[in-house]
Amino acid sequence: MDTIGFIGLGIMGQAMAWNARKGGFTIRVCNRSLEKSRPFAAEGIPVTQNPADLLVDSHVLIIMVTGPEALQEVIHPLVQKDLSGCVIINASTVAVDTTLEVARAVTEAGGMFLDAPVSGSKIPAQTGQLVFLAGGDHEVLERCRPVMETMSKIILHCGAVGDGTRMKLAINLMLASMVHGLSETLVFAEKIGLKGEAVMQVIQSGVLAAPLLKMKGESILARDFSPHFPLDLVFKDLNLILDEAGRHGTVLPATSAVRESFNSAMAHGWGRDDIGAVVRALELMSGLKGM
Ligand code: NAP
Repeated sequence: MDTIGFIGLGIMGQAMAWNARKGGFTIRVCNRSLEKSRPFAAEGIPVTQNPADLLVDSHVLIIMVTGPEALQEVIHPLVQKDLSGCVIINASTVAVDTTLEVARAVTEAGGMFLDAPVSGSKIPAQTGQLVFLAGGDHEVLERCRPVMETMSKIILHCGAVGDGTRMKLAINLMLASMVHGLSETLVFAEKIGLKGEAVMQVIQSGVLAAPLLKMKGESILARDFSPHFPLDLVFKDLNLILDEAGRHGTVLPATSAVRESFNSAMAHGWGRDDIGAVVRALELMSGLKGM
């Protein structure tokens, strides 16, 4: 059985690493700052700050870092080595171009590459219920399937390298827009004298009912913005989506407006709060101090 190396132990990566271990895999972990590695070291799991150290005995590496720049940084020391026999799986959400560049660099170093970003947030990561959106060679994916199954409920093979990333950007457009729409609805409701709880009850009673809206609506009404999907990562994804759209002559007027609300929330310093904190920017624009 392959030893699995994990790079990036943030909200998602640390939960995924623990699930691989619970699933019976031997793991090694790597994080830029030592702090997040401590719980792993306490369990006797080898930790490092240098991704290349994982190559000592790990032949499948799973990367879960912030975005394109972070991915390039952790890939650099790896592709200086001989990666023969190694599979590198990037689960972080990055640009399509970054995915293709990194895949090329890994292949030139003798390795194999899958892009496999995930649908699902902190709780699905903790409970092993993520959905992998995989791009790459079928046989490589089959080799990695057993460890990916310890973290997920579904592994979708979206196509060639890059197609997992494309799928992830497409669904995150919808996700950011849904949470933004919910936030605007709650601000509007408050301004015209409706109770947020009553609005949520109506949303959940009809065709609008969705687990995402239920979860984020409840958090917004409770003013609980503890991070599951941090707002700064959603802003990063909206920028990736709009860049990709621009390259393909695709006009996304509503997504551009949604990005500006997230931009405003970032400027107010709420980037490390949960996605639902975008409501705070909308409240300010409408002269509300906070529902
Ligand atoms: P997070 O909690 O912010 O963790 C980010 C991780 O990336 C940390 O381990 C951080 O290391 C590392 N990192 C950042 N910059 C780096 C650099 N320059 N070099 C090396 N490591 C670096 O993020 P997360 O929520 O786990 O998300 C990780 C990825 O999954 C992102 O691409 C995100 O868009 C995607 N995603 C997130 C969710 C979600 O709900 N949270 C859902 C689906 C997909 P330090 O500890 O040193 O800062």
